[in-house]
Amino acid sequence: MYDKYSMKAEEFISDEEIKASIAWAEENKNNLELVNQIIDKSADHKGLSHREAILLLLCEDKDAIQRIFARAAEIKDAFYGNRIVIFAPLYLSNYCVNGCLYCPYHHKNKHIARRKLTQEEIRKEVIALQDMGHKRLALETGEDPVNCPIEYVLESIKTIYSIKHKNGAIRRVNVNIAATTVENYRKLKEAGIGTYVLFQETYHKEQYEYLHPTGPKHNYAYHTEAMDRAMEGGIDDVGCGVLFGLNLYKYDFVGILMHAEHLEAVHGVGPHTISVPRLRNADDVDVSEYENAISDELFQRIVAVLRVAVPYTGIIISTRESQRTREMVLPYGVSQISGGSRTTVGGYAEDHQEENSAQFEISDHRSLDEVVHWLLENGHVPSFCTACYREGRTGDRFMSLVKAGQIRNCCHPNALMTLKEYAEDYASPETHKLALEVIEKEAETIPNEKVREKVFEHLHDMDGGMRDFRF
Ligand code: SAM
Repeated sequence: MYDKYSMKAEEFISDEEIKASIAWAEENKNNLELVNQIIDKSADHKGLSHREAILLLLCEDKDAIQRIFARAAEIKDAFYGNRIVIFAPLYLSNYCVNGCLYCPYHHKNKHIARRKLTQEEIRKEVIALQDMGHKRLALETGEDPVNCPIEYVLESIKTIYSIKHKNGAIRRVNVNIAATTVENYRKLKEAGIGTYVLFQETYHKEQYEYLHPTGPKHNYAYHTEAMDRAMEGGIDDVGCGVLFGLNLYKYDFVGILMHAEHLEAVHGVGPHTISVPRLRNADDVDVSEYENAISDELFQRIVAVLRVAVPYTGIIISTRESQRTREMVLPYGVSQISGGSRTTVGGYAEDHQEENSAQFEISDHRSLDEVVHWLLENGHVPSFCTACYREGRTGDRFMSLVKAGQIRNCCHPNALMTLKEYAEDYASPETHKLALEVIEKEAETIPNEKVREKVFEHLHDMDGGMRDFRF
């Protein structure tokens, strides 16, 4: 029985309700009156139910699809402006006891070199990341209680936050590790993590169990209920995701929205972010063996409808996607991207990286500077901001900021000031020049006069060497 308030995975992610929603949407997808009614309703920027959203995703009418894209772009602009937050993944360990069929870390894979970074190696990685200009990381590990216990993750977080190299600092560490206990989530919270990220991979229970045949990750309920345990452990910001290509996209699209509805109903706040990774080739993983791959066009529509359905939730695209695909989806809702990423353990500090310790092939191989330059050229403001988290604006407190209409007086200035840090400390001469032009122009648009003056003052102080201003 479907119950979004239930704490049981199979009740808040109800197979019956997902199938009924898809069937209803298939029946009504050409009912233009209904489709247009929902698009009209989304003008209040308050989001859509999973049923309304799947109907919009399946609708085939060209004009309606254009209206959905326009609404997505409008919401993106209202909530996130032209800012794109930048981060990088940091792989700490690829030891894994699970048997996930699509992941090269699966324990039976003997071709990949197994590695776990020492604290000294983490220092080197972090210095390399700081020298690129990164301020925000996503920690990644395989699941292995012996080789990669929670104490190791906690120690690594401490090491990362402690490194201050030149003007660099990692100011927010998000964590993407396997589902764990309330007690461990509490420890992660105490260690000062930003978002706890866990991809569901697929919400389809049978398919989930087939894809995760062995190891702790096999337990569907334990995995699906992880966000509730994280929130019980005090973590306000959680990041959901499905790995598109594993299952039927319609099922997972409804599933992730039901998950968001559940978190909102029970904890009063939905997911902070949603990631939309697509399956990639990797050692021992051949994408062509999976029949459910989604096209770029469909991917673009998924992003757009997600944007309309959950306006308060950030959407993340990684370097699994190419420059071209990233260009296709950025205007319709993406708020965070990774740049200059390596998916190898130790890949940032070592020149000759062992390619076969990588998790998957990346499609966007550009350096961070190239990504920043490209964003600027395309009218976006690359942001290295971590202010909300550091000012305690997590969970529903971030939403209060959005609801109070203070984004342009708060997030925008923070984005510009962190971009200035990047430009002064790390950018190539071309990117530096372009960034300063954009900062000058964008700062003029800050609505509140006092804030605007303060921003110009801080920008000036930064020329004198000061750093880390924020609202
Ligand atoms: N081990 C953690 C867990 O159990 O959730 C998560 C860390 S894993 C390094 C991060 C994510 O990479 C996984 O959740 C999965 O969605 C994704 N991934 C695994 N294999 C992939 C592949 N071949 N292509 C694209 N993404 C993949």
